[in-house]
Amino acid sequence: MADGSCDSIRLVYITLFFPGRNKLHLLEFLEMSTKGNGPGFRFAFLLCLAFAVTSLRAEVRVLRGFTLIDGTGAAAAPDSAMIIDAGRIKWVGPVSALKVPAGAQVVDLKGRFVIPGIIDLHGHLGLTSGMTLDTKSYSRQTVERDLKTYAEYGVTTMLSLGLDGDAVFAVREQQRASRPTMTRVYTAGQGFVYKDGIGGGISFPGISTPVFSTVADVEPAVAEQARKHVDVIKFWTDDNLGKAKRMPFDIDKAIIDSAHRHGVRVVAHVYYLEDAKKLADYGIDGLAHIVRDKPVDQELIDSMKRHNTWQIASTLSREVSLFIYAKTPDFVTDPFFTRGVSADVIKTLNSPEYQKKTASDPNLEKYREALAMGKRNLKALADGGVKYGMGTDTGVPGRFQGYFEHLELQEMVEAGLTPMQALVAATSSGAEFLKAKDLGSLRPGKWADLIVLAKNPLDDIRNTHTIQAVYIAGNQVYTKETQ
Ligand SMILES: [Zn+2]
Repeated sequence: MADGSCDSIRLVYITLFFPGRNKLHLLEFLEMSTKGNGPGFRFAFLLCLAFAVTSLRAEVRVLRGFTLIDGTGAAAAPDSAMIIDAGRIKWVGPVSALKVPAGAQVVDLKGRFVIPGIIDLHGHLGLTSGMTLDTKSYSRQTVERDLKTYAEYGVTTMLSLGLDGDAVFAVREQQRASRPTMTRVYTAGQGFVYKDGIGGGISFPGISTPVFSTVADVEPAVAEQARKHVDVIKFWTDDNLGKAKRMPFDIDKAIIDSAHRHGVRVVAHVYYLEDAKKLADYGIDGLAHIVRDKPVDQELIDSMKRHNTWQIASTLSREVSLFIYAKTPDFVTDPFFTRGVSADVIKTLNSPEYQKKTASDPNLEKYREALAMGKRNLKALADGGVKYGMGTDTGVPGRFQGYFEHLELQEMVEAGLTPMQALVAATSSGAEFLKAKDLGSLRPGKWADLIVLAKNPLDDIRNTHTIQAVYIAGNQVYTKETQ
């Protein structure tokens, strides 16, 4: 009996008892059952049903004794408990008020800290093998490989920004019809680039992204992405420090207007203050990088607030990745880093040739300045009341999925945010931007997407490295003990 059949039968069972959920799997089962035949199949069905009954009862799980940091910004609550039923949080409160349901599996987490799963609003999937860009291998397999890596680092939801092939849509639809066992994916599908600009298939050969020359190119391309039900539209406007041309303003505006007519929000890769201001004035929904050429000013802050433009991602760790490999970075010997990468990656990062090549980039000093500017700007936007999430630009060579989300949190704190502000950005704020009502905080009714930590991240944000376990929809997707 194949594992897949048992899963499908279990899902049918769930569907029978929880009408309205898992419709997709019901269809999958019906398709499968037409292939099944004979007494063997019927026996398998009964066996699976028996297994389903047992495992569903075990689906009620109680976590107790931990300090809760719920993602809303509320103060940490010691001696907390949580009841998780079929992947969702049914109850959360003090241990003293806990009523353990009969038959529940109880997990004692005394001395531990529980935070919501991390939400990265700027990542990429399926494109990188070790330190090599490998766009040709993009497939459902490479997408899922990367979603598993994110999951093992507690990044339980990510927004993939504009370099996807169509394989991502099937992964997304399946996740939304069930309880995922890997990171939840949101996607911008194929982002838009300017013919003389950067980004998309221009910067990453082999990726098929629409290339715009004039305003007339915009509408059909937006309609095509909207037809695929992308979560956001993405476009790039940047000149690669003077080596290319930025998207002309009339095309920027046409993309934003067209996407909004289709009911889809828009985010953009930006670098320059001038572009950020124009895009905010046009009503863009999110900036996918921080402004790095000049200090942000009150005019930008006011426009972003007026148009509900989010700083969805500051990608400070991206700036770090542009210069840090000129020497051996400290994290090369950090077990929290090495557990997620191959021996080849470590060899490359230690290699004098690779370091020499990085160091020979004439813009190395500019990248350091851009990071410093980006940090000051994030702090200014946060203080000014602009909404912000957490985003990294991981998934291209040298920007490591999982590890760099934790590095981003550190950079945000170095920029002047409190650890609580960084955690809220990376949890409930991320969910708010995604309009994911049942993600982002640890409140009743939400999915149990959470991380168990050994140490308090509010004392030191680097304590997010002390991951003991990760849950997605109540499924334990990583445990330290088994590694
Ligand atoms: Zn990106």
